[in-house]
Amino acid sequence: MQVERIVASAEGRELIERVRAYAQEHLAPHAAHAEEQETFPRERLAELGEMGLFALPYPEEIGGLGQLYEVYLQALEELASAWMSVALGVSVHVMTCHPVVHAGSNEQRNRLLPGMLGGRLLGAYSLSEPQAGSDVDAIRLRAVPDGGHYVLDGEKAWVSHGGFADYYLTFARTSEGRDGLSCFVVEGTADGLVPGPPERKMGLRASPTTPVYFEGVCVDRADRIGAEGDGQRLALSALANGRLGIAACSTGLAQAALDAAVSFAKDSGQAEEQGIKFLLAEMAARVAAARATYLHGARKCDAGFDFVADAAIAKLVATDAAMSVTTDALQVFGDAGTVSDFPVERYFREAKVTQIFEGTNQIQRLVIARSLLNRGSGA
Ligand SMILES: Cc1cc2nc3c(=O)[nH]c(=O)nc-3n(C[C@H](O)[C@H](O)[C@H](O)COP(=O)(O)OP(=O)(O)OC[C@H]3O[C@@H](n4cnc5c(N)ncnc54)[C@H](O)[C@@H]3O)c2cc1C
Repeated sequence: MQVERIVASAEGRELIERVRAYAQEHLAPHAAHAEEQETFPRERLAELGEMGLFALPYPEEIGGLGQLYEVYLQALEELASAWMSVALGVSVHVMTCHPVVHAGSNEQRNRLLPGMLGGRLLGAYSLSEPQAGSDVDAIRLRAVPDGGHYVLDGEKAWVSHGGFADYYLTFARTSEGRDGLSCFVVEGTADGLVPGPPERKMGLRASPTTPVYFEGVCVDRADRIGAEGDGQRLALSALANGRLGIAACSTGLAQAALDAAVSFAKDSGQAEEQGIKFLLAEMAARVAAARATYLHGARKCDAGFDFVADAAIAKLVATDAAMSVTTDALQVFGDAGTVSDFPVERYFREAKVTQIFEGTNQIQRLVIARSLLNRGSGA
C-alpha cells in the first residue's frame, strides 16, 4: 500500500516519493536473494548516498540538504518496507555523521563531511563491546595518548558494517569513570584494525555484523571528535536520533508485513472471515501508532525540543509493533507463512533484533521512566 505522506513542503513530499520509487524498483526485487546469500549491498548504499539520503537531515551550510527529520525518517520507512538491511545501513551511517556535524571542529567538518554526507564513505558506529552492551560504563577499549596520536587497544562487538566500513566512529576510554570516554574517527584501513568474521544472524543477514579488534591502532589527535571525556554524551546524543531511525525502519517493516497479509487474505478468500478482518485491523492500528510516535519525536527534534524520551517511546512502540505485526502476518498466511516462498517469515526473523539493538526495549523503558520521574510530567 502506498502510505499517504503528510509533509508540509512539496520538496519533502517529492523526496520521499523519489526514495519510494527507487526502493520499489531497485531494492525490493533483490532483498530476498541477497538476504539468503548474505550479500551486503554496498553499491546500493553508495547510490542512496549519491541521491542525497545521507545528507538529508543535516544543515545546508555544512553540505546537508537541510530537510526536516520527519522527511528523512519517512524516506527511511520507505526503504525499510522494501529492504530492511538497506534502511538499517542508512540509519547507522547517518548516526555516525551526527557527532562530526554537532561536535566536530570546522577543520574536521570540512575534511570529513563531504565524503560522509556525499555517499563516498560508509561509516560504522563502534560502541558495544562483549561485556558492554546496555552498560556503556563497562567499555574497556583504551585510547592512550602518545605524542600527536592516541594508541587504541581492545575489542568492539556487534559492529554493523564491520569489514566494509571506510571509517569506524569509535568510543574508547581515555580515563576511568563516566566522563572517561572519548570519540574517534578511525579509518577502516588503519594498521592494527582487524574485523572478525561476520555473526551468523537469524535475520538482517545482508547487513554484516562483526567484532572489530584494535591492536595498537594509531589515531591522529585531529581525529578525536569533541574534547576528551565527551564520548558518552556524543554517543547518547547520536543514539537518540538513531532510535528514531530504528523506529521508522521498524514501522516500514511492519507496513510491509501488513501489506503482504492483506493481499494474501484477499487472494486466499480468508479476508471473508471476521476473525481475519479484526486481525488485519489491529495490525493496521499498531502500524499507525508506530508511525505517529516516531513522527511526534521527529517533530520535537525539528522544533528544537528535547526529544530523548520521545525517541525511546518511538523505539519501544515501533519495534514492539514490528514484532507483533510480523507475527500476526505470518498467522494470516498459515502454513505458507512458514516457508521462504513468501517474505513474511523473513520479516518475522528481521523484527526481533529491532527490540534489541540501539538500546534494548528494557533500556528504553528506563530512559522513559527517568524522564517521567525527573520532570514529573509526560514525555
Ligand atoms: C544485529 C545487531 C547489530 C548491532 N549493531 C551494533 C552497532 O552497529 N554498533 C554497536 O555499538 N552495537 C551494535 N549492536 C549491539 C547492540 O546495541 C546491543 O546488543 C544492545 O545494546 C544490547 O546489549 P547486549 O546484547 O549486550 O545485552 P545486555 O546488555 O547483556 O542485556 C541482556 C538482557 O538484560 C537486559 N538488561 C540489561 N541491563 C538492564 C537494566 N539495567 N535493566 C533492565 N534490563 C536490563 C537487556 O534488556 C537484555 O534483555 C548490534 C546488535 C545486533 C544484534
